[in-house]
Amino acid sequence: MPPPGSPPESGVSMKGIYVDHAATTPIDPRVLQAASAVYSLPCGNPSSSHRPGMDAREAMEKARFHVAGLIHAAPEEIIFTSGGTEADNLALKGFALANRHRGKHIMVSAIEHHAILHSAKRLRALGFEVTVLPVDSAGRVDPLDVQKNLRKKTILISIMHANNEVGTVQEIEEIGRLTREAGVALHTDAVQTAGSIPIDVDRLGVDMLSLSAHKFYGPPGAGALYIRKGLKVLPILDGGAQEHGLRAGTENLPAIVGMGAAAQLAQAETAARTEHIRGLRDLFIKTILALDKGITLNGHPQARLAGNVNICLGSTGNKESLETLSASGIHASAGSACNSHALKPSHVLTAMGIPREKALTALRFTFGKDNSREEVEYIGRELGRLLRVRARRHQHPSAAGPAKPPPGTGKIIDLDVRGLYCPLPILKTSETFSSLRIGDVLRVVADDPAAEADLQNWTRSTGQEGVGLLRNGTKICFSIRKCKDF
Ligand code: PLP
Repeated sequence: MPPPGSPPESGVSMKGIYVDHAATTPIDPRVLQAASAVYSLPCGNPSSSHRPGMDAREAMEKARFHVAGLIHAAPEEIIFTSGGTEADNLALKGFALANRHRGKHIMVSAIEHHAILHSAKRLRALGFEVTVLPVDSAGRVDPLDVQKNLRKKTILISIMHANNEVGTVQEIEEIGRLTREAGVALHTDAVQTAGSIPIDVDRLGVDMLSLSAHKFYGPPGAGALYIRKGLKVLPILDGGAQEHGLRAGTENLPAIVGMGAAAQLAQAETAARTEHIRGLRDLFIKTILALDKGITLNGHPQARLAGNVNICLGSTGNKESLETLSASGIHASAGSACNSHALKPSHVLTAMGIPREKALTALRFTFGKDNSREEVEYIGRELGRLLRVRARRHQHPSAAGPAKPPPGTGKIIDLDVRGLYCPLPILKTSETFSSLRIGDVLRVVADDPAAEADLQNWTRSTGQEGVGLLRNGTKICFSIRKCKDF
């Protein structure tokens, strides 16, 4: 079986196979060229009235025109932000604060990105009432639930267009029809769909829509919020009058120009990209479901993003699976990138009714325009190998290697990380850590609650009792004893 970095016929490049496009997409070279040109030109501040300033504004307005085109909006309805997170925050907080005299009830779905869920939580702390709508086992919000939960004082509903973890696409058009009838504003987080599903804000019936450039081959650090003309929104940043007074601060012109270029390319290429990516997804689903009866596909079987495959292996924690895949040059994820260090089951999977233990075996593969069928076949083979090793381990536990001596049979090493709130990177590269052997016990003293939580999450993540961690292919066994006062 070809290792990563092998000759081109294996389909695996030197960099390995990147199948985490829901987390971020590589910047398109044509976009990079457009964005870098801004750095190399004598460009002014778009708010300045001299020539370089006017040139900068012209470049920014051109980008706005292309971003608007991608979602069939008017350019003046586009507010540039630093990304999807800021667009979501502006939509929820900005709208709620501007319209609180009309009512203080908002609704969000249980599977929203944390940019929405945490904004809703903040609004709740500010006195708003928040209804969190459930989803079914495929991750879909029932439009009837939206209708049932409408109140006189409901002002805003935010339901994402498609979910970043399981790829389920919501019935936004139907929800949009209901919210229009009820005179309630509808926001959708389209961070995962812009550039992969054609969007028309009027057809969807949305009043606000969030976008992020780095999800459609644009640069990170640029996003936008579409705000329907006439809608009242308050800024959440105070400062200058940029972006119609809704987003203070000098605009990130290179990233915005890159976003414009990416939007233009996405609009022209969406159909071809989607057809290619959907083909890869379907081939992959077929391949992996044939590998083992215990594998289940998460999300909606049809209404799902073209590039998304989210599965539960059923056994084997996702951390261990990802490490094995990564050693084969396959870069996938366990779910949302923002959560990849928090070893809790995904809130999306649990909201879909997937039991905690099973949710912890979830893997997400998200394909992009530059992936190939050879790569998909390679991933299928490597997953098959992973499952065979797992099965052998179940049948003959000794085949997995020598039994692990219980922690505590080796030496005891003490490490003091008091004063550090983020000790992991330091700990992992320390000499103490590299001198650990199987059976050793590492006792760590920490005094910061965040550091303790970090260490505990990490030890939990590494698996079984006694804690194992793969480093350079060797299994080191150790335990971290309670911090503070051993
Ligand atoms: N919303 C969704 C659905 C996302 O997937 C993401 C990023 O993963 C965001 C919002 C946040 O976007 P950004 O990374 O641009 O802040």
